[in-house]
Amino acid sequence: MIVVLKHGVTEEKKAQLIAWLQALGLKIHISDGEFQTVLGLIGDTSNVDMDLVESLEIVDSVKRVTEPFKCCNRKFHPEDMVVEIGEVRIGGGNFVMIAGPCSVESEEQIVEVAKAVKAAGAQLLRGGAFKPRTSPYDFAGLKATGLEYLRIAREETGLPIVTELMNINDLPLFEDVDVIQVGARNMQNFDLLRELGRIDRPILLKRGLANTLKELLMSAEYIMASGNERVILCERGIRTFSDYTRNTLDLAAVPMLHQLTHLPVIVDPSHATGIAKLVPPMAMAATAGGADGLIIEVHNDPIHALCDGAQSLRPEDFSALAEKIRAIRGIVQ
Ligand code: PEP
Ligand code: MN
Repeated sequence: MIVVLKHGVTEEKKAQLIAWLQALGLKIHISDGEFQTVLGLIGDTSNVDMDLVESLEIVDSVKRVTEPFKCCNRKFHPEDMVVEIGEVRIGGGNFVMIAGPCSVESEEQIVEVAKAVKAAGAQLLRGGAFKPRTSPYDFAGLKATGLEYLRIAREETGLPIVTELMNINDLPLFEDVDVIQVGARNMQNFDLLRELGRIDRPILLKRGLANTLKELLMSAEYIMASGNERVILCERGIRTFSDYTRNTLDLAAVPMLHQLTHLPVIVDPSHATGIAKLVPPMAMAATAGGADGLIIEVHNDPIHALCDGAQSLRPEDFSALAEKIRAIRGIVQ
């Protein structure tokens, strides 16, 4: 249930109403917007007398929220959420480009790619140190050493780093990671999500290979209900019967999610297509479709990449794409 307060309500009256609702055993999510305050009621609202609440002098309207996701529901928080990562802002009209290799392979590789993507206009550096691989025999990342190389690349370029955490036991190693990524395969690792809800760090939550939007939002809800509101959603393609692409990029997810939630929504055209040539057109389409950002794999030597070379752009191709993305942003903004 949400309770919309009238404009200009005093803090005292607002606090009285909140205390009364809390006494009914409810958790109250307060969204103080420029024009209105919305109280989101979480818990069993069946014994809240809607008519009584609506009749209060300070209340504008009361609505039932039927969706199972509450904290990430736009009804609870009508204004776009802006996630801040140092000086970088994402959401609410702020667009970001995240770029870097699938995996961190060496200090030289990550530093070289970081410098190149920064020069092209990327605001955040991606790179996997812990890699979820389909085959147990494939390169699974440099782990702690990979994180060390990411830190060096951050020092050299000033780009904040985005990297995937697969196992909650590794969290101590991620203490200074700027954005923690939850990969598609872990989207419904509920214990991991709950733990990430207890830390104060932005979480990049990727949509699972075969998950609905509601399931994605319920996963965001796990993180937010545990206390961490800074969640960025990522559409990265889903499994369908498409035969020539790695996945199917569900672009309609972007405007649909924007309708359902106030969280920023970015698109990963690299994992969505699996083919470097398809990355620029899909990145442009996602930008035109209103995405709040892109996460793109870039490698300085894609042919010899230890992971996902076929979908990785060369730095010069990323640079050309970034220019087009800026032009599209100029139109859709
Ligand atoms: C990645 O971004 O490196 C990755 C493994 O992506 P996903 O979880 O979307 O497959
Ligand atoms: Mn990859």
